[in-house]
Amino acid sequence: MAAESNGRYWNPEAQTMPRQALDALRTERLREAIEQAHRAPFFAHRLDAAGVRAEDIRSPEDVRRLPRITKADLRRSEADMPPVGDYRPFGLDHAVRIAMSSGTTGRPTAMIWTERDLDVERELSARNHYRLGIRPGMVVVGAHPGYLNGGQGLQQAAYEHMGCLLVSIGPPESVDAAERALLSIRDLPVDRWQLFPAALLRLREAAERIGFKGLPEPAEIGPLTQHEKISAGMECVAYLGSSCGVSGGAHLAEDYALVEAVDPASGEPVPDGERGRLVVTSLGRDNPMLRYDLEDMVRIEAAPCPCGETSRRGFWEGRAKDIVTVAGRDVLPIDVWRHLDPGAEFVIIRPERDTGRLPVKVEGERDRDVEDALAHALELPVDVEWVARGELPRAAYKAQRVVPAGQS
Ligand SMILES: [Zn+2]
Repeated sequence: MAAESNGRYWNPEAQTMPRQALDALRTERLREAIEQAHRAPFFAHRLDAAGVRAEDIRSPEDVRRLPRITKADLRRSEADMPPVGDYRPFGLDHAVRIAMSSGTTGRPTAMIWTERDLDVERELSARNHYRLGIRPGMVVVGAHPGYLNGGQGLQQAAYEHMGCLLVSIGPPESVDAAERALLSIRDLPVDRWQLFPAALLRLREAAERIGFKGLPEPAEIGPLTQHEKISAGMECVAYLGSSCGVSGGAHLAEDYALVEAVDPASGEPVPDGERGRLVVTSLGRDNPMLRYDLEDMVRIEAAPCPCGETSRRGFWEGRAKDIVTVAGRDVLPIDVWRHLDPGAEFVIIRPERDTGRLPVKVEGERDRDVEDALAHALELPVDVEWVARGELPRAAYKAQRVVPAGQS
């Protein structure tokens, strides 16, 4: 997996592989993943029920013959077969790292990595960071949550692999905590900040208090950066892709993942460039995940990118649970955010019943142009309530952009 970076790509051979060679590699790896998964009772049962065998696979598209699974299936497996379920051929005795999902919506799920699985993530994270301009020798500040969350651990492994110095300050829980973090690193020569927008907002508030200079602008790191990166979760493929900056979307690591955008009801692929559910099959791992429905919304574009990378590009559009349906139209926070100032704080209020109007709260002075642009783009009447800056709750990690009526 050693990469010969050439200034443009971390791994030129993999990232510019001709499609035909790439598809041959993907087919071979899909066969291996199926064979491997079949050693885990969870997948063996499903593969047998669908009548799919590794030797029947002729192309990457054959992945559609496999059944989709969701996080709820993984949770059920873990509850029935504690502590880590029966969906992995390699269990705790082969694992070198563990993390637990936050578990805000039920039983937390366990994520474990073998050395080979970690190798894949280190390679893919290096491609992502290299595209973003990170180079060996840089000093980067990160605020990913650590310990059982696992995010900081992966981030640390990624930067070590690239030969960078990661300064981990953890997600600031308050503006006071952000202030303490900034004071303790104020003399370091920071090259880059890798932050979630919510962490950046809190750090900026603290920076203003103490006169700290050098933080990026929200526009440089707003929801746009999330849109330009894509993940299939730490339990599947954490570093699925990132943008090259030449054209939109994230170059998908198609040598290590089969990535689909499907119609949620039929499971069939949606047309190129249209919004569908993100379904990912991981390749090249000890513990594969077959057709994992992330319950995220994504668009995939196949048009070749002038940067020379040969993968398709994915546009992450939001969580499926954040879809607000008004007058038959599905709206996601990104549809609103596109028409706001990139650093603007906002929430969509999920109406108790569909009145045909979309209620939104935005921080800032009333701006009729924004109101008009929203209504025009969404083809819906939008009720914008403008509130004072600082009025909407700030998250330490990821912002909640959709709140139920009555809780705003
Ligand atoms: Zn590109």
